[in-house]
Amino acid sequence: MKPLIEIENLRKEFFLGSILSRDKIVAVDNISFKINPAEIFTLAGESGCGKTTVARMILGFEEPTAGRIIYSKESSDNKEPVWFTQGIQAIFQNPFETFNPLRKVEHYLFETVYNYKLAESQEKAREIINSKLESVGLSYEEVAGKYPSEFSGGQLQRISIARALLTDPGLLIADEPVSMVDASIRMSIVNLFKKLKEELQMSILYITHDLATAYYMSGQIAIMFRGHIMEMGPVEKVLMEPAHPYTKLLRESIPEADPAKKWTDRISISDLESDEYLRKGCKFAGRCPEAQDKCKEHTPEAAYIDDVFVKCHLYSG
Ligand code: SF4
Repeated sequence: MKPLIEIENLRKEFFLGSILSRDKIVAVDNISFKINPAEIFTLAGESGCGKTTVARMILGFEEPTAGRIIYSKESSDNKEPVWFTQGIQAIFQNPFETFNPLRKVEHYLFETVYNYKLAESQEKAREIINSKLESVGLSYEEVAGKYPSEFSGGQLQRISIARALLTDPGLLIADEPVSMVDASIRMSIVNLFKKLKEELQMSILYITHDLATAYYMSGQIAIMFRGHIMEMGPVEKVLMEPAHPYTKLLRESIPEADPAKKWTDRISISDLESDEYLRKGCKFAGRCPEAQDKCKEHTPEAAYIDDVFVKCHLYSG
C-alpha cells in the first residue's frame, strides 16, 4: 500500500536557555515512519520526548533542521507544500484555548469555510458546517449563536474536530486531544476517531502519553524517548509483548504532559530532561535496569524483531 505520509530522517535541534547560550539539544533525532491511508498511528512517550515537535514540523509550525516529509507525493523540499493549508488539519489538547471566549463558536466555522473558499453562499456554508457537525454527533442548531462557555469541554473538542474536517483533510493530527476532557466523555471522543477512520477513510496521527487509548484505537505505534523512536510496530505487539526496556517501563507509569509548556526555538527543560538529551550513547541508559557499559558510550543501531523496530543494544547485536 502506498503511504499517505512518509517521514524521512527528520531532525530538529533547539538551543537551550537564554539567547546567548549555544547549548543545543536534538529534540528529534533522525526519525522515520510512514502512515498509510485510513490508519491511526500513535506517537507515544512522556512529556519532552519530542512527539509534539514532530507534529509541529508536519504542520509547518517548525522548520526541520534536516530530513524530509512527503505527503501524498508532495515533498517538504517544495517551498509551500499544499498540506500546510488544506490536506492536514490539527486539533489540540485544550479546546478552551482554541476558541476566544468573547466570540461565537459558529464564527470560527464560517471563517474556515470562507478562508478556504469552500462555499460561495451563506446557505451553502451552513450546509457544509452542519454536515461536519453531524459527523461528530452535533448539529448547526445546537451550536448557532452560542459562546464557548455554553459548551462542555467534550462538546468544544467535538466542534474543534468538526472544524478540522471542513477541508476534508487526508490526515488529522490529534495532539493529546482527550487529556483535558472528563474521563466520562474521553471514550466517546476516542470512538469518534475510530468512526472517522472507518467511515471517511481518514488517517490520524494520535499523539499521547496515554497508552490505554493508544492501544484501543491505533494500528501502529511508535514509542519515543528524548528524540529517538525506541520501539515501533503493530500496537498489539509493541504494547502486549514489549521488547525495549523503555516500553516496558512506560507500560507501568508515564508522567503527565505539561500543558503549560510553550515552544520557541529556545526552550527551557528540566535538569533530568537536559541530562538525558545531552547523554552520550543510549538516552535511556541512566534509568534502564538492563544497561550495559556500551550503552553509555554508543547509540544503539536499529534492529527488527519480525515487524517490530527496536533501538536497543540488547537486540542490535
Ligand atoms: Fe537499556 Fe542499553 Fe537498551 Fe538503552 S541500549 S535501553 S540502556 S539495554
